[in-house]
Amino acid sequence: MLMAQQFVGQFRRKRLLIALVIATAVLILTLAFRYIEEKSRIEQQAMNFADNAIMRFDRMFSPLDVSANNTLGLVGVSCQDVRFPLIEKISALQTVRAILLIDNDTIYCSSIYGPRNIPFSETYPELAIYNQRMILATDNYLLKGSPVLLLWTPKTQDNRSGILQVINIELMSNYLLEPQLPWVERAIINVNGESLEYGNPLIEPTEPSEDEVSYNEASLRYPYTLTLYGPSPTRLALATLPSQLPLALLLSLLMGYIVWLATANRMSLSWQISYGITANEFMVYCQPLINAKTGECDGIELLLRWHNARQGWIAPDVFIPLAERQNLIAPLTRFVINQVVAHLPELPRCPSFHIAINVAASHFRNHAILEDLQSLWWPANPVPKLVVELTERDALPVVDQSVISQLHDIGVRLAIDDFGTGHSSLSYLKDLQPDVLKIDKIFTAAIGTDAINATVTDMVISLAQRLNISLVAEGVETAEQAAYLSARGVDHLQGYYYARPMPLGDFPAWLKQHQTDIEA
Ligand code: C2E
Ligand code: CA
Ligand code: CA
Repeated sequence: MLMAQQFVGQFRRKRLLIALVIATAVLILTLAFRYIEEKSRIEQQAMNFADNAIMRFDRMFSPLDVSANNTLGLVGVSCQDVRFPLIEKISALQTVRAILLIDNDTIYCSSIYGPRNIPFSETYPELAIYNQRMILATDNYLLKGSPVLLLWTPKTQDNRSGILQVINIELMSNYLLEPQLPWVERAIINVNGESLEYGNPLIEPTEPSEDEVSYNEASLRYPYTLTLYGPSPTRLALATLPSQLPLALLLSLLMGYIVWLATANRMSLSWQISYGITANEFMVYCQPLINAKTGECDGIELLLRWHNARQGWIAPDVFIPLAERQNLIAPLTRFVINQVVAHLPELPRCPSFHIAINVAASHFRNHAILEDLQSLWWPANPVPKLVVELTERDALPVVDQSVISQLHDIGVRLAIDDFGTGHSSLSYLKDLQPDVLKIDKIFTAAIGTDAINATVTDMVISLAQRLNISLVAEGVETAEQAAYLSARGVDHLQGYYYARPMPLGDFPAWLKQHQTDIEA
């Protein structure tokens, strides 16, 4: 019984372990999932910022482009005649600070200062010689020191004439490059090797610091790129994890609890027993009963064996009490009956041969054992005699008298197993009128070693003989015990001294050998 409890404890520990493992896995997975999600959200925020800024810069440049192309016709016309149309255009464009007209590689007209005479390729070689369309520069004329963007629209392929627009880039960049914390700490527009940052006029391009990352995105329409600096998304995402912990813990506890409940059935030994019946994990063994007078084997006791796929061999002392408690003992007994019926053809076909099965007291309830014998045992037309061994493991329950008498009526013999170890052995003799008493192995073991128990053995023997009840001694392990018991008139002997329990299929060969041995 203690062993059975240990088993139940083992299953509980296993369930607990599985629930804990699953809960931990859920916790880790939830946090990992939230971390990845958060990280990609942070990255997405930075990308969105860049996309948005580029779209808006492009939208600002595009009307300037159109306007410059429309104005190209004015290039070459005298400055006096074009100044007012230029001023008109500037007021329409808002973002443009000044428009310069270039002809013959000379800036000859400015919308602000009127006629000029500045060599174009000397002043802006990037535009005139290196074919750039845009540069960042510092305004040296109107708002000295402020950054401007120069947008060059050439009229001729040789870059000697065209229109140069001076754009108020500072205004736009203060609006579009404003940092968006915590994702974007700095945003920089780069044009031809020069950079401009929010609140910072012209700067040199820089590298991100160690725990910063940078994103680069280029405009597809104009020759500039954006660089964003921000804390690494890994760091930001990690920083959000503590706030995710309560939810993740809750989820993992919930999952652990669900697993704990869900495994209650699957992990229980009773579930395993039911599963074992369908998965053919049980086997029927038998142990010979030796006639004490002749030495011949004239019966067998059927004993269940269970080889569980995960636990290996499990002793009947462990699973039988559990099966009894979980109402699974009847299916196991039916299994035993079915097995022995299948082996009947190989077993001795004489009425003096006994086949003993162990039947739990609960199986007697509602005539269940009678019904099972009716449907499984008798249809096989068995010749050997059936013995039902009723064990008194727990205090013997009240067994329905009518079942006992019906068993007697149909020729089934009743044995009381483990006699002497239970509570109400004597009253039992009166109520059940058994045909056989099985002397428990502790009394057999007492022979020659334990005076008190040996005295009980003697008393049981004489009691049975007076009541005309046949006797079987269990657990006979030595020749001395066998001799002692036979001398006192015990009818049958069972124990390792003769044979250990063996698979039912091995019995015919054993019997043959035994027969030869005693005849020799
Ligand atoms: P049991 O009915 O008293 O069966 C005899 C037990 O004593 C068997 O243990 C057997 O292997 C063991 N045994 C036989 N000879 C010797 C011996 O010389 N020395 C020792 N030390 N032991 C010996 P087993 O097979 O482990 O079964 C244990 C108990 O489990 C059985 O005791 C019986 O109460 C129960 N059991 C086994 N099979 C069934 C079954 O099909 N149905 C029911 N209800 N109970 C069963
Ligand atoms: Ca037995
Ligand atoms: Ca027994």
